[in-house]
Amino acid sequence: MNATEKKIIAVIEAHREEIIAFAEDIENHPEPGFQEFRTARKTAEFLKKTGYQVEENVALTGVRAHWERKNAQQGTGDTGRKNSGYPNVTVIGEMDAIGCQRHPKADPHTGVAHACGHHAQMAVMAGAAIAFSDPEIRREISGSLTFLAVPAEEYIDADKRTVLREQGIRFGSGKSEMIRTGVFDRTDLVMTTHVHMVDVKEDFYLGNPACNGFNAERVTVRGKAAHAAIDPWNGVNALSITSSAIQMMGLMRETFREEDHVRLHNVIRKAGDVVNSVPDEAVVETKIRASSLERIQEIRQMVDRAYDGAAYAFGGKIERENLPGYMPIRPRMADTVLVEAAEELGLVYRNVQPGDFNNACTDVGDLTQLFPVINFTFRGFEGRLHGEDFHITDKEKAYILPAKLMALTIYRLLRKNGEEAKKIKESFTAVFDKQTYIEYIEKQM
Ligand SMILES: [Zn+2]
Repeated sequence: MNATEKKIIAVIEAHREEIIAFAEDIENHPEPGFQEFRTARKTAEFLKKTGYQVEENVALTGVRAHWERKNAQQGTGDTGRKNSGYPNVTVIGEMDAIGCQRHPKADPHTGVAHACGHHAQMAVMAGAAIAFSDPEIRREISGSLTFLAVPAEEYIDADKRTVLREQGIRFGSGKSEMIRTGVFDRTDLVMTTHVHMVDVKEDFYLGNPACNGFNAERVTVRGKAAHAAIDPWNGVNALSITSSAIQMMGLMRETFREEDHVRLHNVIRKAGDVVNSVPDEAVVETKIRASSLERIQEIRQMVDRAYDGAAYAFGGKIERENLPGYMPIRPRMADTVLVEAAEELGLVYRNVQPGDFNNACTDVGDLTQLFPVINFTFRGFEGRLHGEDFHITDKEKAYILPAKLMALTIYRLLRKNGEEAKKIKESFTAVFDKQTYIEYIEKQM
């Protein structure tokens, strides 16, 4: 470790109690997606106190702290918007909690809890931000750094999306909305982290395994009401259409290929009003997960045929509202800078291998379609993700060590004129740029 790296470690060590207190404060006040008002306020306070210029209410509840080297020729300051020609690294912390009513730390009103460990991610981002607030450390890097607290990683359902649209949120997740509104316009490279999402025994898992994307839709099945006993022959049963469609989806499962990791699930939100009338309206939310954008679209067409076919058979109608989801993660093996940083810290880690797969979905997937995303996950917890038994067991492994790994990796990316960051950026081929990404999502809406 050179002097700068030692200094990075020392600065994080010096603030360890503060970082842990920040994590626990967020954990004890969980908030749902796009409602992270307190979390945002606390994050903004923390980053301001650390010496950053902070922008709030980014995509409703997001918080952005930015720093770039003051440069006499460019005249850019801490909030400078000019591109200095050096790379930008954007570090993500997810703010939202997940619905988990029975979790001991769940908010009694909203029923959400930090059962996905996002509070730990926030601490990691905060710890890295502290390290790069130090003037001596800043002198050793070129480029710019953005610390971005992002709302709403967890799925936002159809009703909530309707309300959010009235508040100006058009895309269904925090990162997606931030791409749309230009928050990532200056980003060259993204850094993300999370508690382990796949079963990894080691403390750290370096890289980004492939992961499913998803698409959802809200389907309203229209039938015709009639007395259930006097003249049911005059009715069209929306519940029968719905259950037939779901039956068909079940039978279609035999055509799903293992390698596509298809997951198809439904929730019936409504299926009639009273028992003695033929149900004339049913509402179903259907979610399709698969490992590629093409396969998601293909399965979606099958699902649509199941609904349309069932409606045709009974003489009903289908109305659908598409709810764009998250894109699959494009896998990325552990970058050398990340592995070297883990080695420096003497961590117990393993690297992502080709073929590793995470069946869950995250809107980090969307970012991987546009930017190189350097990712690692970490342990320090016990229990199931999203489960009532999820809890942090080791503050060092959940908050402090990942913050050090994050900070050392950033340093390795941006030292020596940011040559490593530039190299990674140049070797990356994006699937979408901002414009084509927006068009793709809008086409599905
Ligand atoms: Zn999560």
